[in-house]
Amino acid sequence: MAGSFAVAQTLAPPPDPRPTQLALLPRPLPGESLLSWVDHVASTFGLSRTDTAQHLGLHTASMAKHLLRINEPDLDHLRARTGLTSEELSAMTADSGLAKRATGGRRVPFYAGVQRFMDRNSPACPQCVGETEGRWQLDWRLAISVFCHRHRCYLVSQCECRHRLHPSDRGSASRLVCATQRSQRLRPCRRLVADLPAIALNDEHLAAVGQLIDQRLTDIEAPELNWAMHLVLRVGSERQIEDADPDVYAAFSQFCRRRDALLARLRGQPGMVLINEPAQERLILAAVVRIAGALVFADDLNEQAQRFCELATPRWDTVRSDILHPRVSCARLVRAFNTYGMPGKSKWNKTRTNP
Ligand SMILES: [Zn+2]
Ligand SMILES: [Zn+2]
Repeated sequence: MAGSFAVAQTLAPPPDPRPTQLALLPRPLPGESLLSWVDHVASTFGLSRTDTAQHLGLHTASMAKHLLRINEPDLDHLRARTGLTSEELSAMTADSGLAKRATGGRRVPFYAGVQRFMDRNSPACPQCVGETEGRWQLDWRLAISVFCHRHRCYLVSQCECRHRLHPSDRGSASRLVCATQRSQRLRPCRRLVADLPAIALNDEHLAAVGQLIDQRLTDIEAPELNWAMHLVLRVGSERQIEDADPDVYAAFSQFCRRRDALLARLRGQPGMVLINEPAQERLILAAVVRIAGALVFADDLNEQAQRFCELATPRWDTVRSDILHPRVSCARLVRAFNTYGMPGKSKWNKTRTNP
């Protein structure tokens, strides 16, 4: 294309130390991830992802790191080159908005063995990707994002060839197609992300919880939701979601059956993956979000905690676990659970001090 050479010239790195602003840069969409925007700029100008990142001023680290937080020197450079404000730039990383609340601002954010923010790849709503021609929402990377409000479908975690989507260590083509190689010997599958099948959301209860998370998750509820998700991943039961969508129910009950073995492997390796079936990942998390959200946003927390305990799976090591050690930030939830004790045991305080 004739224009791309001229634009590439325009994009050539300026002599340091005074970066000049680039002309005609497309603006990020509301909620778009930094990687998606870099890929969009790359495709607009016919450049590679790596070259574009460098031209824009993202020099020092991998895209996965930039997605978590843009460091100060890069932010200065990027601001000068793009004309975007610090707020606009940070809004595309985990350092902002819902992502910051949901991850607690931690660099390596995990629930019990589940990444709170996926920095290396992203789930997606295929319809959104199709309609926007490859723009990816930052919030899809959050473990608490399990469905698309707009298209009423569960997010998809992987291609049908079992590869993760929009990886941070591949090229910009992955904004539109499955661009990962299954192994060195196999070609990329190249299936369009927009064509991937997504399961319809019919569960009004989960839809309501998702809306509450979007609208009401403040710095007060966020640690409570994290705490509740830890709890559900360890002792939640499919009996707590009998009216969920059938695929969610099936995925979560299968997870619950395999959980003891998975948690045993997790012990002593906090970075290990608890949900090791990417195809089921968002469905399992949908169950977790639904149960945990019902606790955090309950009108009557005591009643909800009691119901939770009646149906949960008792696990000794959870009651004693450091992960679930009562924290000041979750005092309200901990108090409610202390009132009813964990299933099969008496009061929580008693079981913790007298294992
Ligand atoms: Zn959508
Ligand atoms: Zn594929």
